[in-house]
Amino acid sequence: MKIGRLFKAGAVIATMGLSACGTSYTVPSISAGSEAAAKTMFAQERAVTKRRTTSSNAAAARFDRVVSRVKPVAMAFCQQEAAKSGAKPCDLPVLVDTKMPVANAYHTRDGQNRPFVAFTVPMLMQIENDDELAFILGHEYGHHIADHLKKGEQQALAGAILMGALTATSQAYASQGNPYRYTGGDSAEMQRNMALGAAVGQKAYSQSYELESDVLATYITKQAGYDPVKGAKFFARPAAAKTSNGNLSFWGTHPPDAKRLATVIETANAADAGQGLIRKK
Ligand SMILES: [Zn+2]
Repeated sequence: MKIGRLFKAGAVIATMGLSACGTSYTVPSISAGSEAAAKTMFAQERAVTKRRTTSSNAAAARFDRVVSRVKPVAMAFCQQEAAKSGAKPCDLPVLVDTKMPVANAYHTRDGQNRPFVAFTVPMLMQIENDDELAFILGHEYGHHIADHLKKGEQQALAGAILMGALTATSQAYASQGNPYRYTGGDSAEMQRNMALGAAVGQKAYSQSYELESDVLATYITKQAGYDPVKGAKFFARPAAAKTSNGNLSFWGTHPPDAKRLATVIETANAADAGQGLIRKK
């Protein structure tokens, strides 16, 4: 009786949390033409065996050049979103992370909870043209515009609550002497399972958030005068997800995927045909 109520409460809260965390913008369905084009481009990009690396001087010049063109466009998209969904900072610092020794770009918050975007030096040296940097900056800004950090935290919380409720249920069963249930329930088990639930909750939407950021990046990149399809080819590159010391690189959190390139092609074609970014509500 009590167990059923507990489970239901957890499931309802978790469902509410997760369903509140869908995407804010329409991610287009992919036509056969875009899928075929993406597969070809993806294969071509993967077949390149020798990559160029940019010198650190050239990378720094590129960074200044591209950020100065792309950031104002990304800010304008951010301000449009803020007008609809509530105030948020839109003038984010775009920084070079000189410490992390792996190719990475990310959107996160600092110790004072202020959001920013950063590129590591190896990332800037692996980027081969301005379109790639423009697209990746648009993508990271897209995570900010579509509130993915906040949504990820809400999902983590919902997942933790659900797992906590399930753990409590199983522990309550155990305390009632059900012989088929694990009987070692304790607060450590509760904590472990809630952490697991948080991780599962956070992962649940990560793929749709990546695609949503790619859609935003396509519009931002185009409006800034760069080519999003050329830029998104960066995602086709194979690279180790982790460094030897276990740090997750850009490819660990953004797995290479022809579907992402297809989404960019589809969105760029729609934009060329006059279709603007579609906000769901
Ligand atoms: Zn991303």
